[in-house]
Amino acid sequence: MKVTEHLSRAEGKTLFSFEVLPPKKGENIQTLFSNIEPLLEFKPPFIDVTYHREEYVYRQHPNGLLEKKTVRRRPGTVGICAAIKNRFDVDTVPHLICGGFSKEETENALIDLHFLGIDNVLALRGDPIKSEGRFVPEPDGHSYACDLIGQISDLNKGEYLDQEQDDTWATGFCIGTAGYPEKHFESPNYGADLRYLKHKVDRGAEYIVTQMFFDNEQFFAFERRCRQAGITVPIIPGLKPLTTKSQLTMLPRSFYLNLPEELADAVHLAPDNAAARQIGLEWCINQSRELMAHGVPCLHYYSMGKSDSIRQVAAALF
Ligand code: FAD
Repeated sequence: MKVTEHLSRAEGKTLFSFEVLPPKKGENIQTLFSNIEPLLEFKPPFIDVTYHREEYVYRQHPNGLLEKKTVRRRPGTVGICAAIKNRFDVDTVPHLICGGFSKEETENALIDLHFLGIDNVLALRGDPIKSEGRFVPEPDGHSYACDLIGQISDLNKGEYLDQEQDDTWATGFCIGTAGYPEKHFESPNYGADLRYLKHKVDRGAEYIVTQMFFDNEQFFAFERRCRQAGITVPIIPGLKPLTTKSQLTMLPRSFYLNLPEELADAVHLAPDNAAARQIGLEWCINQSRELMAHGVPCLHYYSMGKSDSIRQVAAALF
């Protein structure tokens, strides 16, 4: 079922959902299932599965020279979506990115998803490869998420690339897109970021999931800006409980976000990671409660590979 159908069937009740990462290459899928199982009691109507593109690594060649290779450390997004759906009977939302895909490869991936009975896609551009510094599309790939959304919308109308027949089957993907309460790091200002977000919705995105944030005022202001700009689709806040002291620097560096002083100071002064984790959990629970009271349609949690802290937050709320 589509994410938007789940949201409208909830009739005002806030839903619970989360995102998982495919296991590292060579790891057993059982580890992933064991991470998901404890969260099922909170009845997630859908689970997101991230997409990880290749990275460049340098390996020693037998001739002694260093060789530049591409490695995908977390493959398997499409297969995992199907496996989760089969095993737990929960809808899945594969993330699909522009990076590393030609338009034809994108179409093939979408056809696979359609044949597997997957109804949703979160359409993203993807981050630049670390060594490249800026996003470089494939020669025949998309440069921005809006163009990927356009391609999925075309398939939803039965318009395939290089179409050879007229009686094509239309896919029916529900398309999600990313939003940034603290603006995307490449955007010169909030206004530009908002214009591009509106463009993604105009091209077919039916709901927005936000980057994680730790200050609800940032979300409320973002939501207000969206509504004033005429964006009417549901906006789902993305949250993550802070669980270690090192995340005080890692999260802002990786996700270009601000941590409120009150939270950062408390975690900084915490004697150890166990105390920091407790502070992070309580912060996330309070943030979630306020967002629920505000009437958000769903709370979406970033697991970053571990579900125990999300389980504790969900147990306090759902
Ligand atoms: P876009 O919407 O294309 O925006 C990218 C930048 O270009 C922004 O600065 C925007 O303002 C600007 N822009 C947009 N359209 C135009 C245009 N037409 N002309 C000029 N400028 C434009 N990454 C992964 O690799 N895998 C994942 O699974 C993944 N999951 C994510 C899930 C969520 C909920 C979020 C918030 C992010 C996720 N990301 C993931 C990270 C995401 O890919 C990066 O943040 C990426 O840098 C931007 O992706 P986007 O889809 O927001 O890009």
